[in-house]
Amino acid sequence: MAWETVIGLEVHVELATKSKIFCSCTTEFGGEPNTHVCPVCSGLPGVLPTLNESVVEFAVKTGLATNCEITRFNKFDRKNYFYPDLPKAYQVSQLYLPICRNGHVDIEVNGTKKSIGIHEIHMEEDAGKLVHDPWEDSTLVDYNRCGVPLLEIVSEPDFRNADEVIAYLEKLRETLIYLGVSDCKMQEGSMRADVNLSVRPVGQTEFGTRTEMKNINSFKAISRAIVYEAKRQIEQIEMGKKVLQETRRWDENKDATYAMRSKENAQDYRYFPEPDLLPIEISEEWIERAKAEMPETAAQKRERYVKELGLTEYDARVLTAERALALLFESASDICKEPKEVCNLITGELMRLISESGTSADRIDIDPEKMARIITLTVKGRINRNAEKEVFEALFRENIEPEQYIKEKGLMMLEDDDLVNDTVDRVLSENPKSVEDFKNGKEKAFGFLVGQTMRALKGKANPQTVNKILREKLGSM
Ligand code: ADP
Ligand code: MG
Ligand code: ZN
Repeated sequence: MAWETVIGLEVHVELATKSKIFCSCTTEFGGEPNTHVCPVCSGLPGVLPTLNESVVEFAVKTGLATNCEITRFNKFDRKNYFYPDLPKAYQVSQLYLPICRNGHVDIEVNGTKKSIGIHEIHMEEDAGKLVHDPWEDSTLVDYNRCGVPLLEIVSEPDFRNADEVIAYLEKLRETLIYLGVSDCKMQEGSMRADVNLSVRPVGQTEFGTRTEMKNINSFKAISRAIVYEAKRQIEQIEMGKKVLQETRRWDENKDATYAMRSKENAQDYRYFPEPDLLPIEISEEWIERAKAEMPETAAQKRERYVKELGLTEYDARVLTAERALALLFESASDICKEPKEVCNLITGELMRLISESGTSADRIDIDPEKMARIITLTVKGRINRNAEKEVFEALFRENIEPEQYIKEKGLMMLEDDDLVNDTVDRVLSENPKSVEDFKNGKEKAFGFLVGQTMRALKGKANPQTVNKILREKLGSM
């Protein structure tokens, strides 16, 4: 029998707000355990939450970017469960009236376009982390992550294979990063995906029973888990067994999923409206303002780079692969008005420096103003290409002052035509054979003489000037 795989995703993203959703503790990743906490986020009795307005703003922007309807009147609900990562024993989330609904994200896989439905997006708080200590045979809790704002983006069961899932996750990731809503780092857990998967005979309209695989932390692992789990379910059914609705864990090392617990449903969580928070009413003006503030998407940037700034599709892609690079490119180009030069320096030198130094593009901190100055000096012929690279590397490593560095290292090009003149005279008298060759029509000899002159001037003369003076002198010999 031919089988079809059906997949729906629940994606959690941690929002890049400075403070947590209901208190003013920092959302910064890491830190000594239990140092980013206060009575509110560690769940002490008697405290009251205060909603962080930026969370609502980020949720609305995410909804607009994914073509959702924004729920004008929405509320928080309590999802009750008992587990030590959640000190209040309930998570504040949204069940009945989520902030965004009925959207879609358009993807393209091998040239075929497809629209993936977004069922809803809701706001909630993250839980803490449990650290299992095998030596002490104990478990420790770290509540730093408690109360970090999350969006849960729930798709319709519209995916049919792993490639579609990955295309969607990549699109979502790019969208959220360019919105400035989240940094979406799977390895740090700021983007996590739960994969719901079922199989059915091709042609059948009803869905099969699904399993859910939680928090798989890389695109590669997600792909592998999908392939494995679809195969497992098909084998199960073909053996005459039933697929159980359960939560399964993907074991990266064993390359297999195994059952964690039978799946709970909404009743198990005893949801009820959160009594400590007012409903959120979103006005038209508020939505209009959010719309006006929506930044350019990566796709829009790529188009503009090609159409207005004359870059190639390839360069536009490299620059927008990382938001930090795109922003650096734009600010430096705005200042020096040399987009092509800025692009070359980023895609060439900067990429090399990033990979050599083992950092990543999202961590770079380059002053676009100084970068623009280096480029202007190069374009004006005040420093040569090698010097440009050297100064830029020093800027990358030590944030030097370009002009001062150029002066200290003597990288400025000579402006003294007399010196060039004298040097050319000397080179000509020292190389009579080459002068002879040139007169006999050997163009190669000219290149040699240019090279000798540049060498004598330590590469600091403008090659055009050297060329011109040499031609003049040879012409009158
Ligand atoms: P819950 O909140 O209990 O996990 P939902 O009904 O909200 O359940 O669905 C969660 C996710 O599972 C959604 O992304 C949805 O598209 C997906 N899903 C639902 N039914 C199926 C199914 N039969 N096969 C695959 N995915 C499914
Ligand atoms: Mg779920
Ligand atoms: Zn707090």
